[in-house]
Amino acid sequence: MSAHEVPQPASCPPERFVVEVFSELNRETIQNRWGEINVVLRLSMLTGLQMQLDATLNMMCDMAAEITSFEKALIYFWDEGQEGVQLRVLRGFEEKMARINGAPHGNIFNFWATKYSRPLLVTRGHNLQADALMDAVMANSALTVPLFVSNRVMGSMQLFCTESEAFKREDAQLLWIMSLVAENLLTREYANEGLLRFAFTDYLTGLKTRGYFEQQLELEFKRAERRRQKFALLMIDIDHFKQLNDTFGHHVGDQVLRDVASILMKDMREVDTVARYGGEEFVIILPETTESGARYVAQRLRRAVEQAKFFAGSPQAIQHLTISIGIAVYDADAQFKRDLIEFADAALYSAKHGGRNQVLCYSELAKTQKKEVS
Ligand code: GH3
Ligand code: MG
Ligand code: MG
Repeated sequence: MSAHEVPQPASCPPERFVVEVFSELNRETIQNRWGEINVVLRLSMLTGLQMQLDATLNMMCDMAAEITSFEKALIYFWDEGQEGVQLRVLRGFEEKMARINGAPHGNIFNFWATKYSRPLLVTRGHNLQADALMDAVMANSALTVPLFVSNRVMGSMQLFCTESEAFKREDAQLLWIMSLVAENLLTREYANEGLLRFAFTDYLTGLKTRGYFEQQLELEFKRAERRRQKFALLMIDIDHFKQLNDTFGHHVGDQVLRDVASILMKDMREVDTVARYGGEEFVIILPETTESGARYVAQRLRRAVEQAKFFAGSPQAIQHLTISIGIAVYDADAQFKRDLIEFADAALYSAKHGGRNQVLCYSELAKTQKKEVS
């Protein structure tokens, strides 16, 4: 620091990181950085492609690497379903560490990018919050660029370096133009994501639809095969539901369906899929779960429904309900999708015949069938 420079207090307002940018590049930048400008042109030519949001965000990260060098990167983006910012791209981090340090639901740089709608060039020693984030990601300089959907900041791309002044204003300017070029692409993909979510959400219960379940089951088969892991399928049916409908009417039946759905959703892991299979039947996929694990979950759900009080139209009319559950496990019971569904269904059917309000695994059913034959 020279004698004329005033020492900075530990925490200046974050405005000092904001970079003034332009929608046109100046002659000097065009002359000096034509290689990087070509990257932006390439992006503009891709805007006709049909891509998924995550793929585009990843591609933007690759392109940013051609424009400026960095060691680590994070991209946050608004997620309509979660109603919050989500970490969508991660580079140069160990996954677990970044989720803890980089904050999965948005960090302070994302907040500032949203607030100022401008790129931020961050160096150490000016702002406590900025320094804390740099500590967490082990960097000494950062460049953050806002990402837009229909003119609104919906996320940010954050690049990090251990070198203390690794990024230049010109880098910020070029990445800003790249972000503007990507806006159309991001807007369309963001809308598509919303449509997909809409199509895959059951209107009555808010659970996933049968269509989503079928796709997810397909994926789970592939994943389990690749990793040589087990996974379980639960098929659930409400006992004597027709009676409840007949006594109290369809409206009350609908409300009870919603209540049961929320019991099924409660305490599930993020990786589990809970879907409405049809009518008063539900399915749950439990990845990386053995038969005993699945049985434990199923018994917990069965008990939760058994103990719940359902209000049938008025606080006086409390109803008690039960559910029956059939379980089949990949690859112990079945190796194919149709078989797995059929076997879970067979176990459910058997649980009904056994008196309802119970959990039955296909393996138990198979054993009794063998006994009957011999
Ligand atoms: P079980 O114990 O054998 O499962 O008896 P159940 O009465 O539940 O079985 P059944 O399959 O005979 O009846 C299912 C009933 O679920 C029929 C229908 O009235 C009701 N149902 C299906 N979908 C809906 C829905 O979306 N809303 C309402 N309110 N009821 C529904
Ligand atoms: Mg049924
Ligand atoms: Mg039923």
